[in-house]
Amino acid sequence: MRQYLDVKRQHRDAIVLFRMGDFYEMFYEDALAASRVLELTLTSRAKDAGGAAIPMCGIPFHALDTYLPRLVRKGYRAAICEQVEDPKKAKGIVKREVTRVVSPGTFTDAGYLEAREPAFLAALAPHGDAWGLAFLDVSTGQFAAAEFRGPGAREAVGAELAVIRPKELLLGDGVSADGMLPAFNPPRITVVDGWLFEPARARATLCEQLRTASLAGHGLEPFAAAVAAAGALVTHLRDTQRSELTHIRDVALRVTADALLIDPVTLRHLNVVEGVDGGREGSLLAELDRTITSMGGRLLRQWLVRPLVALARIQDRLDAVEDCAFRATERGRVRDALKHVHDLERLVARVSLGTANPRDLVAIGQTLAVVPRLRALAADLQAPLLRSVVAEIDDLAEIRTAIEGTLVDEPPVVTRDGGLIRDGVDPELDGLRAISRGGKSAIVAMEESEKGRTGIASLKVRYNRVFGYYIEISKSNLGAVPADYIRKQTIAGGERYITPALKEYEDKVLGAEERITVRELELFEALRVRVAAAAGPLLDTARGVATLDVIAALADAAAVCNYTKPLVHDGDEFVAVDARHPVVERHVSAAFVPNDVHLDSSTRQVVILTGPNMGGKSTYLRQVALLALMAQAGSFVPAKTAKVAIVDRIYARVGASDNIAKGQSTFMVEMQETATILHTATNRSLVILDEIGRGTATFDGLSLAWAVAEHLASNPTARPKTIFATHYHELTDLADALAGVVNSHVTAREFKDEIVFLHKIVDGRSDRSYGIQVARLAGLPPAVVRRASEILKSLEQDELTRGGRPSLSGAPAANQRQLALFQTAAADHPVVDRLRGLDLDRLTPIEALNLLAALKRETEA
Ligand code: ATP
Repeated sequence: MRQYLDVKRQHRDAIVLFRMGDFYEMFYEDALAASRVLELTLTSRAKDAGGAAIPMCGIPFHALDTYLPRLVRKGYRAAICEQVEDPKKAKGIVKREVTRVVSPGTFTDAGYLEAREPAFLAALAPHGDAWGLAFLDVSTGQFAAAEFRGPGAREAVGAELAVIRPKELLLGDGVSADGMLPAFNPPRITVVDGWLFEPARARATLCEQLRTASLAGHGLEPFAAAVAAAGALVTHLRDTQRSELTHIRDVALRVTADALLIDPVTLRHLNVVEGVDGGREGSLLAELDRTITSMGGRLLRQWLVRPLVALARIQDRLDAVEDCAFRATERGRVRDALKHVHDLERLVARVSLGTANPRDLVAIGQTLAVVPRLRALAADLQAPLLRSVVAEIDDLAEIRTAIEGTLVDEPPVVTRDGGLIRDGVDPELDGLRAISRGGKSAIVAMEESEKGRTGIASLKVRYNRVFGYYIEISKSNLGAVPADYIRKQTIAGGERYITPALKEYEDKVLGAEERITVRELELFEALRVRVAAAAGPLLDTARGVATLDVIAALADAAAVCNYTKPLVHDGDEFVAVDARHPVVERHVSAAFVPNDVHLDSSTRQVVILTGPNMGGKSTYLRQVALLALMAQAGSFVPAKTAKVAIVDRIYARVGASDNIAKGQSTFMVEMQETATILHTATNRSLVILDEIGRGTATFDGLSLAWAVAEHLASNPTARPKTIFATHYHELTDLADALAGVVNSHVTAREFKDEIVFLHKIVDGRSDRSYGIQVARLAGLPPAVVRRASEILKSLEQDELTRGGRPSLSGAPAANQRQLALFQTAAADHPVVDRLRGLDLDRLTPIEALNLLAALKRETEA
C-alpha cells in the first residue's frame, strides 16, 4: 500500500490501475468511481492504518482493452502502473512504475477512437494580451497552433474550440477558460503545472521535438503564445505517453486569413458535419463522404469545416477532382486499390507510441504493398495536385520488406504467446525452435514406446499448465503401470504419472519455449523501433493516399450526383443556374425543384426572400451557402452552372435556436448571433438570415428585421452578400428604397382552397404566408383552423380601417408617396376601383399604356 500511495500521489487526478499479479487493482476513491463506471464489484482490503477498510475493485489484466475505453469515454484519466520486473526474480516487493497515462485526448486505442473523426488534445495559453491555442491529434500526428489577440481574442478562441472540438484541454495552473468552452460536449479540462507553458522552455521542447534549431521555418517565431501552448502539449504528451513521439514532427501555424471562416453556429445550421439529430445522418459530410479509407474520411471532414480562400489552391483541388471525374475507369481502379489500404496514419502513430501489436505492423506492410499499384494507376492522371500526391507517396521498400520478412502473415493479436516471427529470421530463435520441436517430437515418440513397453493401448501423454507433461492411465489399466512411473494425481477415470525421462524433455521444451517468447518479443520490438524511425515518410505517404482518396471520392460524388465544376473567381458575381440542395435533393420524395441564385455587390446585394411557410425558403438559403462552401472546399457543386465569387466568411442564422445549456433565451441568442454578423461581416462575406426577429412581439421583430436588413444593405464599410428570408412582407418595401436590395419569393398556388408548393424562386414580392393553410395541412383541428381564418380576416380589416400598416422608419421620404399606394387601404382607393372594373380581354396594348399613364397621374395627384 505504501508503494501504491506513492504512485497515487504523483497521479492525483487519474484513476491508478495498479498491476498485482493477474489483475489491475484500484483502491479508495478510484475504486468507488471505477466500480460505478465499469460496474465492477466493490470489495475491501485489509484495514488501513486508521482501522478503516480500504475499498477496492479490480479487472483481470487481459481485459484492460475492454475496460480502459469505457473509463476514458466517461472522461476519466487512467494511469497504468505495471510490474516492471519479473516477480520471480524480485527481492521483496516487485518494482512498479506508471508506464502510460491515458485520457480522453491521448487515448489511441482503436476501440475508443471514431475511425472517421479526429481526436484532438488542445492546450490554451494566455501570454500578454494574446491567447495561444495548440491542438494535436496524437492518433495521427496532426499538430497545429494559432494565436489570437485584440478585443475579439476570447471569442475567436471559443469559435475555434467549438469547431475543433478537442476531447481534452490542457490549462496551466490558475488559468481559466471561462466563456470560451463550447456549451455542447465541452472538453475534459486537465490542469497541468504552469511551468509547462513557460515560453523559453516550451520553445526549446518544440525545437527538440521537431528537430530544428528555430521555429522560423514553421512561421511560429513571432507567436510566443502559440509556441507556449504547442510546447506544453508536447511536454505533457512525452510525460504521459513515455514515447519519443516520432510521428509528431511538424506543426502548422493556423492563420485565420488562410481559411473560409465558418463559425460553429453556421456549421450547425448548415448541417455540414452533423445532421439535425447530432449524428452524421443528414449532413453534407454524410452525403459527400464516398471516401474508401478512414484517413480519407477524416481529411474530407477537415476540408469541409475549413474550406480555402486562396484561388490557386481551390483551383488545384477542383482541377484534380475534374481530372478524376472524367476518367471513370481510372477512378474506379484507384478506388478499388484503396480498399486494401489500412489506416496508415493511426497505425504509424501506434507504432510510434509503442502500443502497436504485430497485426498493426502487418497492416502497415499490407498497405505499403498497395502503394506501387496506386502510383501506377494514378500515373495517368495529369492534374498538378495529383502529380504532387503521386510524387509524395512511397512504398518504403526497405520497411515493407523488413515487415514482410520478419512477421508471419497472420500473427496472433496477443504477443505473449509468441508465434509472430517467421522461421529463418534469427538464428537464435531458429535454434530454440528446433530444440522445442525436437523435445515435442521426442515426447510424441515416447507415447508410442511406452504403449509398447506397458502394453496399455489407451495410454496417453498429455499437457496442462499446472503439471506440464504427464502420462494418463485409465482405471482398468492401473495394474499394468510400471514401477518407474511416479504418481502425480488421481482423477475420476484413472491416474496421472510422470517419468524422469518425460520431465527431462519437458524442461528442454518449456525452457526453450520461454526463451522463444522473450526472443520473439525482442525481435518484434526491434522491428517496431525501425518502423517508428520511418514515421515521417510513412505519414507523408499516409497523407498522400488520403488526399488521393478524397479527390477520387469528390469526383465520384460529382459523377453520381450530377454536380458541375464551379467557376471560382476573385471577382464579385455569385451566380448559379439550377442549383440544388445537396442533401435535401436526395431525400425529398418528389423531384427537387432547382433554383437560380444571383448576388453581387451593386444591384443584387441583399435579396429579401418571402413566400409561404413550407415553401422552401430555408432550403434555398442553405443551398446557396453550401454551394459557396463546397466550391471553396474544392468540390463540384449541385447546379447546372455556377460562378462563385470567393467569400471570406459564411454566416448562416436560422432564427430561434435556444441555448438552454447556457441559460439564454431564444431571442437573446438570435440577437447575439445577429450582433456578431453586423460587427464582423465584410464586403466579401456571405450572410444568410432566416426569419430574424421572429422571437419577439410582431412590431418589435419587424422593426428589428427592417433595421438589420437596412444596415446590411447600406453600411458603407461592410455590405456582405445577403439573402434575408422573412415573413414580414413589409420588408419587401426596402427594395424600392435601396439600390442594392431586390425581392424574390417562393411561388405557391392556391387551388380550391388548398395550397400547392411550387418551390420555385422568382424575383418580386409575395403577399401572403399561407400560414393557416399550412396549419391545416399539419392537421390542426378544423375548428381551430376555421377560427384562425376568422381572426385573420378581422385582424386584416382592423388593420385596414386603421389606415394601413404602421409606418416604418427607413423608407426615404422621396419614396413615401409611392409606398403609400401599397400601404393605404387598397379596398377603397379610387385607382383600385378602376382596376377592378377593367375588362382586360377588351383592352388593346395602346389603350393599356394610356390607361397606365392615367392611373399613375392619379396616384401622384
Ligand atoms: P418555413 O417558413 O415554414 O420555415 P420554408 O419556406 O423555410 O418553411 P423549407 O423548410 O425550406 O421551407 O422547406 C419545406 C419542405 O419543402 C422541405 O422539407 C422539403 O421537403 C421541401 N422542399 C424545399 N425546397 C424544395 C425544392 N426546391 N424542391 C422540392 N422540395 C423542396
